[in-house]
Amino acid sequence: MPQTLDQQKMQTRNLIGGKWIDADSGDEFAVLDPATDEHIASVPRCGTAETRRAIDAAAEAFKPWSARPAVERYRMLRSLADAMMRDQDRLARLMTSEQGKPLAEAKGEVAYAASFIEWAAEEAKRVYGETVPASFADKRILVLRQPIGVTACITPWNFPLAMITRKLGPALAAGNTMVVKPAEDTPLSAIALGELAVEAGVPAGVVNIVTGEAKAIGEELLDNPKVRKLSFTGSTPVGKLLLQKSAKNLTKLSLELGGHAPFLVFDDADVDAAVKGAIASKYRNMGQTCVCANRFYVQDGIYDAFAGKLSEQVKTMKIGRGLDDGVQVGPLINDDAVEKVQRHVDDAVQHGAKVLTGGALAKVDGLTNRFYEPTVIDGFTPEMLINHEETFGPVAPLRRFKSEEQAIEWANDSIYGLAAYFYTRDASRLMRVAEQLEYGIVGANDGAPSTVQAPFGGVKESGFGREGGKYVMDEYTEIKYVSWQL
Ligand code: ADP
Repeated sequence: MPQTLDQQKMQTRNLIGGKWIDADSGDEFAVLDPATDEHIASVPRCGTAETRRAIDAAAEAFKPWSARPAVERYRMLRSLADAMMRDQDRLARLMTSEQGKPLAEAKGEVAYAASFIEWAAEEAKRVYGETVPASFADKRILVLRQPIGVTACITPWNFPLAMITRKLGPALAAGNTMVVKPAEDTPLSAIALGELAVEAGVPAGVVNIVTGEAKAIGEELLDNPKVRKLSFTGSTPVGKLLLQKSAKNLTKLSLELGGHAPFLVFDDADVDAAVKGAIASKYRNMGQTCVCANRFYVQDGIYDAFAGKLSEQVKTMKIGRGLDDGVQVGPLINDDAVEKVQRHVDDAVQHGAKVLTGGALAKVDGLTNRFYEPTVIDGFTPEMLINHEETFGPVAPLRRFKSEEQAIEWANDSIYGLAAYFYTRDASRLMRVAEQLEYGIVGANDGAPSTVQAPFGGVKESGFGREGGKYVMDEYTEIKYVSWQL
């Protein structure tokens, strides 16, 4: 088995007010490699008291941090992005070890994560206000943009670095401080990021990292009036819970929640491009992304060609430990994830769908039972679980459609509204369909639309708020109006 990490040198504690600390109780929890169940490290099991201290540290650090010229914050964040890229290989190996994704994808994620810090650093210099013409000769109207104060984020395990940096980057760039609560399965990437932030000169208390009891930490973040903003990426039920709890202090929220992306292929599509896009969208990260295609609607005339080519390519994907060469499909994150994927496949088969390829656990010598064969299913129908629950696994269910109208109706028939995809070579249809899809992100002949320059976020029960692009600072600044009588 390859030696993955230098466990002696790894930082595993929490960062509060510039100090690396253990839980008050001394309790820890284990971080395991999902491919092998190897114990990688243990991290502190913190709760309410430690979170409160992290918030106090962030509150103390806020004034001096926000008072710095923007260009100084730019330089520090720029150094952080550079350090991430310098350590790209190390961070990627750490990520693959705790999360399972193929190493090439982990390297890609490190670069993607660093790009959010770099982009936000640049935007720090461009937080512009306005002057507005007044109705009286002796009055002036000024509009200022100011940081919010202490902010917090709660993040998931599927993108252990990028989901943090796309919140942390703009928060810090705008002059806020932050308490970060990473997912239980992947705290080590977050802690490694904290170390690099310290190295880049980010002052004590500006970034704080707390691992442990999700419920207790989340409750303190929303119970404590010092926290003015919480950004959450995760499931819709937890997002709704946080929304309810945010009522106490009217804490601002950004919520990037679940998705159930439709993927439409029209008769006039380039079938090879559609298959390539389907693989990028569906099988990246073993199907564990919130923008993953979850339902494929394919028009009658192209259905057989698309189903055949997709199944053929999916069959050749290399399954194995993410650290091994050429692996394209790693383990799912945990046993519950495997159980859910199998349940969706079994339910589809019971209701009459046919498995074209995959459909079972993949046995890999010496590794855990969390590897699932990339799967294609023919003929899913509305009553199946897979039609409305997020599968979060490598399963592509296909359904035939006849008309554009029908495809759009089916595509929009969801409580979710995060991402949608479609393939066509007809320019008029492209615009027509893009406008009608009730989703925050639309990939038009593109299976991988996520990028730092663009606003990422959903509608309906996929949440609200946008991350990325020129919109990033909107989420982390307040607008103040100054009415000036001369
Ligand atoms: P996923 O299905 O991706 O695990 P979750 O919404 O359960 O989605 O988890 C996303 C993040 O939310 C994780 O960091 C997790 O620890 C955190 N979390 C889960 N339950 C709660 C809760 N009740 N309050 C605050 N955070 C929570």
